[in-house]
Amino acid sequence: MEKPLIEMTELDRRFMTGDQELVVLKGINLTIHAGEMVAIVGASGSGKSTLMNILGCLDRLSNGSYRINGQEAGSLDSDALAKLRREYFGFIFQRYHLMPHLNAIQNTEIPAVYSGVDKTRRRNRSHELLTRLGLKERCDYRPGQLSGGQQQRVSIARALMNGGNVILADEPTGALDSKSSQEMMAILKELHGRGHTIILVTHDMNIANYAERIIEISDGEIIRDHPNPNAVVSKPPGLPDMPCAGTLASSFQANWGRFAEALKMALLAMASHRMRTLLTMLGIIIGITSVVSVVAIGQGARQKVINDISAMGTNVIDVYPGRDWGDDKAASIHTLVPSDLEALKSQVYVDSATPGTSASLLLRYRNVKANALISGVGEQYFRALGMEMSHGASFEKSDVQRLAQVAVIDSNTRKKLFSASDDPVGKIIFIGSLPCQVIGVTKEKESPFGNNQNLNVWVPYTAAMGRLLGQQYFNSITVRIKEGMPNQVAEKSIINLLKQRHGVKDFYTSSSDTILKTVKKTTATLTLLISAIAVISLVVGGIGVMNIMLVSVSERTHEIGIRMAVGARQSDIMQQFLIESVLVCLVGGVIGILLSYGVGMVFPFFVTIIVMKFSILSIVAACLCSSLIGVLFGFLPARNAARLDPIEALARE
Ligand code: ADP
Ligand code: MG
Repeated sequence: MEKPLIEMTELDRRFMTGDQELVVLKGINLTIHAGEMVAIVGASGSGKSTLMNILGCLDRLSNGSYRINGQEAGSLDSDALAKLRREYFGFIFQRYHLMPHLNAIQNTEIPAVYSGVDKTRRRNRSHELLTRLGLKERCDYRPGQLSGGQQQRVSIARALMNGGNVILADEPTGALDSKSSQEMMAILKELHGRGHTIILVTHDMNIANYAERIIEISDGEIIRDHPNPNAVVSKPPGLPDMPCAGTLASSFQANWGRFAEALKMALLAMASHRMRTLLTMLGIIIGITSVVSVVAIGQGARQKVINDISAMGTNVIDVYPGRDWGDDKAASIHTLVPSDLEALKSQVYVDSATPGTSASLLLRYRNVKANALISGVGEQYFRALGMEMSHGASFEKSDVQRLAQVAVIDSNTRKKLFSASDDPVGKIIFIGSLPCQVIGVTKEKESPFGNNQNLNVWVPYTAAMGRLLGQQYFNSITVRIKEGMPNQVAEKSIINLLKQRHGVKDFYTSSSDTILKTVKKTTATLTLLISAIAVISLVVGGIGVMNIMLVSVSERTHEIGIRMAVGARQSDIMQQFLIESVLVCLVGGVIGILLSYGVGMVFPFFVTIIVMKFSILSIVAACLCSSLIGVLFGFLPARNAARLDPIEALARE
């Protein structure tokens, strides 16, 4: 005797209802051979459907053993069971369980999508099957446009899609009129004749009589199992040969096919709830728009500051006494002296160097008085800072050597002390009580921090120290580095030189380079802060997405059940919902990016000093970020969907 196709021994199925255990199947022993046509009959509630679901690997047994072709099914994981459902079994349900938004062709081909048949093959096969079942003219109809009998024939086509070795029909005629029922049974009979194993559940003896073996079940136990000698011999409907199952596509094509199906379903789901999808997206749209715009504005502002600082010249280094900015002992450190200046001047990389000593003193010209910042500087000061004269000239080396009482004033001082028609050059002004001759006026210089109203007067540092301040040290030394010399290298050399001369590092340096670095660091911190806020808004958007996805899963529980029944893996279901949430977020992200470009177009009408700067990086980051949110917040709902129990899911409408 050949090996049985199906073998159940001492099989039990129990359900927990509340804290009570309900035994629905007890001690089932059943053997079915390939090619049989069996009817399982019994009263309503006797456990027929439960038995059928276990036979079809939709449900698991509680106790005992179930072997398919000698292989124990009880120990298989859910993917292996899905494979069996896909490739071995074809289900026909009392209530058809077709997907309402797909047409007959699409409903029929679903099992082949999950088993990886390429698109044209499965389309062709689907079309052929429907044609042979008499639905040639109805291929494009949706279930709602078909009669019950026609819907049931579509579900037969679906059961046959992957071969349908074993057809499991649970009350297939339960919802059909008697004529359709007879047609239905004739088809099953014909399939039996072609070698399919048919297992049929019914409570109607007339229907059971089509089978050649009848199993009676009552209260979860088999009470009779006998051959049916007077099986109805129906007139075959004369179905033409069924096409053989399509060949499988390559694994890449198969994966692509499943992905494409999932994508199609996701788009369909989005399209059927446009308003809801849009509102869900809104959170992501607002989040992404604000992030991308704010980052662009930040980038623009930063660029502006950097440009301004660069305009000041990046090749100037200042040396100050003390350890760092704000050192409280700096005032008592008197080690920056004229010989340091000479040493610095003699370095090859130094273009020019000038000391700085300053004090706030009273200026007087005739009867006009004003407070000004008096700076003692070297003859190279004006060159080192890139300042030019509008009138007269700056002082010379000889002026410095002979402590000359000469002064260069800035335009603010000029405006304060002299009338517009007065030429200040050659005039004598009093700095404190020291009379000095004005020899030059500096040009007004654009400053990034706004033009201040300070009055500045410069005198040779020798005169300032000797005649005005009575000190022998500098408050600072400003060094201009030769063009093309790397700033950092020069700064290091200066530090080394002075350290050698002083024995200790009792000074610090500052260059516009370091200021630039500080600005960059500050703006980076700011960007980080803004991004943190943006992330919060995106998380809020993500929670909205998660919420809607949970709704979407519960709305489509029945659909998930159908897909699982025809052989979808858990990963297929997961993929479908993940794609949907990623798509919602990604589309939201793209709309957000476009909107922020819109903001960028409107922005110049309101703000002129800053130009919004969009970077490819921030756009790529925005896209990645929104996809990530989709995956992150779609994961939980998708996993919920994938973990649904197929039977419970099918029961939900
Ligand atoms: P039939 O198809 O023969 O009418 P079923 O197999 O559907 O009967 O159900 C048999 C019994 O098992 C019923 O009493 C039903 O209430 C119970 N049952 C079925 N599924 C479950 C379940 N998931 N949880 C609890 N009880 C169940
Ligand atoms: Mg039932």
